[in-house]
Amino acid sequence: MRQTIPFLAVRWAALLIGVLQLPAAPARAQRLIQKVETVPAGEQWLSPGDALQVRLTGTPGGRAAFLGGRPLTELAPALAAGRRGVYQGTYIVQPTDTLGGATGRPLWLHLRLPDGRRDSLPTPAAVRLLSPNQPLLAVTRTTLAHLNYGLGDDRLGGAKLGYLDSLVVLHVVGRVGGQYRVRLAEGHYAWLPLERARLLPPGGFVPASLTGSWSVQGDSLADYVRVPLSQRLPYRSQMLENPTRLVIDVFGATSNTNWITQRPGLRALGAVYYEQPQADIFRLVLPLRHRQSWGYHLGYEQNTLVVRVARPPARLQLRGLRVALDAGHGGSNVGAVGASGAREKDLTLAIVRQLQQELERRGATVVLTRTGDEGPDMAQRVALLQRQRPALLVSVHVNSAGSAAARGTSAFYRYVAFRPLAAALYGQMQQTGLPGWGLVGNFNFALNGPTDYPNALVETAFISNPEDEKILTDPARQQQMARRMADGIHDFLKSGRAKGVRGWLGRQPAEQ
Ligand SMILES: [Zn+2]
Repeated sequence: MRQTIPFLAVRWAALLIGVLQLPAAPARAQRLIQKVETVPAGEQWLSPGDALQVRLTGTPGGRAAFLGGRPLTELAPALAAGRRGVYQGTYIVQPTDTLGGATGRPLWLHLRLPDGRRDSLPTPAAVRLLSPNQPLLAVTRTTLAHLNYGLGDDRLGGAKLGYLDSLVVLHVVGRVGGQYRVRLAEGHYAWLPLERARLLPPGGFVPASLTGSWSVQGDSLADYVRVPLSQRLPYRSQMLENPTRLVIDVFGATSNTNWITQRPGLRALGAVYYEQPQADIFRLVLPLRHRQSWGYHLGYEQNTLVVRVARPPARLQLRGLRVALDAGHGGSNVGAVGASGAREKDLTLAIVRQLQQELERRGATVVLTRTGDEGPDMAQRVALLQRQRPALLVSVHVNSAGSAAARGTSAFYRYVAFRPLAAALYGQMQQTGLPGWGLVGNFNFALNGPTDYPNALVETAFISNPEDEKILTDPARQQQMARRMADGIHDFLKSGRAKGVRGWLGRQPAEQ
């Protein structure tokens, strides 16, 4: 049972009037408040049920308040990194609260000392409360709009839940700084960078659709699943193992799929079906016939969700294989620089050129993301690769660490289904005599993000280590590394051949 606490009933408007009645704030020198902030910092949009958290740093021993007298609690120094005078407060937004209308406004925090002195300061950024009665909608602006799990960040960006096509409609229920919080389905939320979406005019409904009946078919290049919807809804996809399958959740979708027509010509897809794990999540389950997933592309044709499933190459050999190579950095993006002045962008291009020659010598066709000292950005590289539809991608970089002690070779992948390619490259790179630094999964690198083809990143060696730098700058060693990477791709293909029915071309147990 909920208790009624009088100050909770205070309306935000009344509080703003209270602020206007305060005496003029003391001059800067006499300030009792050093800093006020929302936690997390930055402009915030909140919906009913969300927690508004504030922090005030100022003179200890006072009474701090916000929202018309709602108290903040002064933290014990042990909870505030030894500091006194840090006050924190939380307020759960109620459906009837309003603040600052459509744009929001800064939030005032107040501090009063026992001797009667007082001070007030607004938060640096605005706080806006969203009305559940007028859903705020946005559409994605690019074909590589990514959803983040949370507000985390590092040099590669926050951890990503996945990528969306353009013009996907999303329900915005909040914002912190540069990201919208979107509600995907009951209990499912994600974050979307502001620049990846455009807000729609008011009046729309929360995105939802019934699903139509599927068409499942193959053409000369790939297998396809098509699911008609009434609008472009957000989705999340995963490649799962044992048995190998794609699982795609469409948020806001409810089944009216009454048949799944499977036409002739399918070569990658097994017995596809769907589940409805909750009322507003429609799940496609797409078992694959082969143990190794060769990737898939997810997007819309009008309002029909299309899953294009790649097939294994006709022959598991380098001859005839279309291989994409990416030389890291380029142009004004120099990358890491060694003690000798060697630059990553030059080394990656030199090694990739050697690798290209080696692969072409073995009969492969090579696609490059750059052929000289150009610096295409990640989105341009991904767009080019998705257009070129290679069988697989290897991105080549040079590692660098704060300590000169770190050395050795490493390989990176994002999806566990693509681990075998990274592992094969890593194994061969160690045959050059470089020590193994590690095999890294779930790597949040832009070129490991696409699901279209197996991909791996090779951090050849550490330019920040003198011994490794000598190897990286030696043309003979560059050629050796290139040969070993070609061997790695060969091993990746061969392991599929060697295992017979258990190999990648072999049928899954359920298919035998
Ligand atoms: Zn790099």
